[in-house]
Amino acid sequence: MPDQRLNYVSGEWTASNTDETFETTDPANPDEVIATYPQSDAEDTERAIEAANEASDEWAETPGPERGRILTAAGSLLDQRTDELTELLVREEGKTWSEAGGEVQRAIDIFHYFGSKASDLGGTVKSSSARDTNLYTTVEPLGVAGLITPWNYPIAIPAWKIAPALAAGNTVVIKPATLAPGVVHEMAEALDEAGLPDGVLNVVTGPGSEVGSTIAGHEAVDAVSFTGSTAVGNTVYDTATEDGKRVQLEMGGKNPTIVSDSADVEQAADIVANGAFGVTGQACTAASRAIVHEDVYDEFVDAVVDRAAAIDHGHGLDDPGMGPHVSESELESTLEYVEIAQDEGATLEYGGSELDREGYYVEPAVFSDVDTEMRLAQEEVFGPVLAVIPVSDFDEAIYVANDVDYGLSASVVTDDHTEANRFVEEIEAGVVKINEKTTGLELHVPFGGMKDSSSETYREQGDAGLDFYTISKTVYDN
Ligand code: NAP
Repeated sequence: MPDQRLNYVSGEWTASNTDETFETTDPANPDEVIATYPQSDAEDTERAIEAANEASDEWAETPGPERGRILTAAGSLLDQRTDELTELLVREEGKTWSEAGGEVQRAIDIFHYFGSKASDLGGTVKSSSARDTNLYTTVEPLGVAGLITPWNYPIAIPAWKIAPALAAGNTVVIKPATLAPGVVHEMAEALDEAGLPDGVLNVVTGPGSEVGSTIAGHEAVDAVSFTGSTAVGNTVYDTATEDGKRVQLEMGGKNPTIVSDSADVEQAADIVANGAFGVTGQACTAASRAIVHEDVYDEFVDAVVDRAAAIDHGHGLDDPGMGPHVSESELESTLEYVEIAQDEGATLEYGGSELDREGYYVEPAVFSDVDTEMRLAQEEVFGPVLAVIPVSDFDEAIYVANDVDYGLSASVVTDDHTEANRFVEEIEAGVVKINEKTTGLELHVPFGGMKDSSSETYREQGDAGLDFYTISKTVYDN
């Protein structure tokens, strides 16, 4: 019997007024239903927004250290349930046990991090040029934060929005992704148990076009933080800015790793394969383009094909090298890009076929002879598909790396310090890495992209993660 889950509104678990539900299923075993959730509509969403609005003043006035204690206690409760959370994440989203376990740990760490930051919030005192005047700044919450999150990191991304929003004194309405909402419910349960007052956090499941767009457009929502595709992000932006809401967007990527002729090719192949094929390529920061100097090109292609061929597939609970795609439509989309790339004239060096087994499995794919103009080199695939692009020097490598609409994460593998420095200066990306894979980032540093990957104005994580959820006042007190 699958779990029957409800919305969390005003501290109560409640059904949708539509009485309709949707199911989540195991992508490794699509006949298995994991849970049912309310198929909520605009009215349910409005009720949750009203609850958040009503709870807003009281939560804003709650001292920061008290807010922080609740976040920290929730983090500890999640910590006690690591295996349970990891299993739910694997079953709904399809990650491997190691990948899901790492993500759950990240969410726990985020709660502890922002729990401690809540005690640290405050403005600064400055000396004034006027006599007998106290000059200082204060930091205040914005009010109600509306959060819209994707399925690919279904616990870490909601955590890195919920925790700073609450730490800063905002109340929250969150719409988790339809494909994998369960772990957000678990977070709500932990916060409830940790003593979060009613209405401070509200969780509503349902279609993005209904629940998400109601959040984006509602006048009582003061700020919207969205992570997802660039197409949906742009719609959310248009809706949310109509009445002047503050908006944070974290969107797609087409992340490059440059492999210099000075690189250790075996090391470069490890770095690129990890970045391209980890989490089945379903990461916004996944390495989808290897831009490789012609002198080491053939050797690199062989080495990265070896890595791809060595990956085993299976149910995430068995912790294989690669789990399935999250859904049939994501699998279809990857298979379509494999066809498009071949039609465009790229050479399929390895993989790219659906596996003959139950579940949404695909072999990782490596393409050579890719030109920067091809769709494979320009569009986000969101699957384990690597385009290897030859270049004749470092100037061309930087040009090709920047020759996309996206600018999220980028890396270079080089033994030449001058090249590394040039890369840091010239690359158009919010996260820049040297001799590292494009994926992964520590939680105390800012995260965000450039160009179509991000709204650029506000970063997530670290101290910067709190900026989005606060506004400052400058006070002259004579
Ligand atoms: P998505 O389709 O854009 O959905 C993201 C969220 O928006 C989901 O909760 C979705 O609801 C909701 N939504 C859909 N239509 C909406 C609308 N009209 N108004 C308001 N909300 C709406 O993205 P996804 O497929 O879940 O995630 C994959 C994408 O996210 C990739 O492009 C990836 O690069 C990006 N991503 C970016 C980052 C980053 O930090 N830059 C991190 C992770 C993922 P439903 O689930 O109900 O459709």
